[in-house]
Amino acid sequence: MGEECPKLEDCPIFEKYSSDASRKIWVKSYCRDIYEKCERYQKMQRGEDVPITMLPSGEHAEHLKK
Ligand code: SF4
Repeated sequence: MGEECPKLEDCPIFEKYSSDASRKIWVKSYCRDIYEKCERYQKMQRGEDVPITMLPSGEHAEHLKK
């Protein structure tokens, strides 16, 4: 297993995905192994606001607003 994203504890996307097992696994693969490629991580590193709808891939999932 790779290194873990330093933002893991603070990242709200986990809570949003807690009931969706398949997506959770997908998010975890970013968060555990390739977090430096995560668009959310990159934005946080730049000090920018990260919309709750933004996925690690940079795509937006509007249903995450709920
Ligand atoms: S979604 Fe991105 S910023 Fe959030 S914990 Fe995973 S890798 Fe880190």
